[in-house]
Amino acid sequence: MGTFEGEGGRKQDKGCRGWSGTRRGRTWEVGDEMGEVAAELGERMRWRHNNAWVQAGATLGELYYSIAEKSHVHGFPSGQGRTIGVGGHFSVAGFGPMLRKYGTAADQIIDARLVNANGEVLNREAMGEDLFWAIRRGGASSFGVVLAWKINLVAVPPIVTVASLDKAYEQGATELVHKWQTVASRQVPRELYIELIVGVSNNTNRLAGRRAIELKFKVMFLGPSKKLMQ
Ligand SMILES: Cc1cc2nc3c(=O)[nH]c(=O)nc-3n(C[C@H](O)[C@H](O)[C@H](O)COP(=O)(O)OP(=O)(O)OC[C@H]3O[C@@H](n4cnc5c(N)ncnc54)[C@H](O)[C@@H]3O)c2cc1C
Repeated sequence: MGTFEGEGGRKQDKGCRGWSGTRRGRTWEVGDEMGEVAAELGERMRWRHNNAWVQAGATLGELYYSIAEKSHVHGFPSGQGRTIGVGGHFSVAGFGPMLRKYGTAADQIIDARLVNANGEVLNREAMGEDLFWAIRRGGASSFGVVLAWKINLVAVPPIVTVASLDKAYEQGATELVHKWQTVASRQVPRELYIELIVGVSNNTNRLAGRRAIELKFKVMFLGPSKKLMQ
C-alpha cells in the first residue's frame, strides 16, 4: 500500500488523543474532542470535521461497531446487512434507513484511494470527478481496486426508534401498500424511514396450505419514540 498524506499534505505520527483499537488488522482511532476523527492506514494521521477513512476490506458491521464504540452521536448512512463489505457496497451507492435524511453512502464519500490498471494509487484529485463518481455508483471493479474510502460521518441522536410490523394479505394489504406509497416518501419527516418488503407468507397453518402475500414494514426514526408519536 502506498504512502498516504492527510489533508493539506500533513502527515501525523503522534498526538492523536482519544480511543483506538485494532480489529483484524484494521485500526481505528477517534479523537476525544467532538468533530475529530482519525484512522490509521499504515501511517497515523488525523482528520477533522467528522471524517474518517475506512479500509475497503471492512464490513458494514465493523464500520458501524467502530463508530458506535467511539460516539453515540455519529453514524453512517448505508445498508442493513452487517456482513456486507464496504468495498462492493459503497461502489454501488449503498442505501439504508438513513436514506431520506442523508442520501446514500455514495453521497457521504468524500475521497478514495484507487489502484488503477497501471498500478497507480489515485486519490480523488488525481482520478478526477468523473471517475470518482463512477467508482461510487457504477461498480468500482470496472475501474480498479479501491483500497479505502474517506467518509463523512453524519449526526444521529443518541436515541433512535426502530419497529417492525407484519401484515397478512387479508389484513388489508392492498390498502396498506397504497397508503405506504403516498405517505412514506412524502408526508412524513425525513427522519422517518418506512421500508416495505412484499413477500410470500410461509404460515401454512393460517392459510391451510395456500401461498399468500405478506407485508413486512421496517421502521426507523432518528429520535425517541415519544417524539415520533407527537
Ligand atoms: C445480506 C445482504 C444484505 C444487503 N443489504 C443491502 C442494503 O441494505 N442496501 C444496499 O444498498 N445493498 C444491500 N445489499 C447489496 C450489497 O450492497 C451488494 O451485494 C454489494 O455489492 C456487496 O458488496 P461486497 O463487497 O460485500 O460483495 P463482493 O461480492 O465482495 O463484491 C461485489 C462487487 O464489488 C466488487 N468489489 C468489492 N470490493 C472491491 C474493492 N475494494 N474495489 C473494487 N471493487 C470491489 C467485486 O469485485 C464485485 O464485483 C445486500 C446484500 C446482501 C448479501
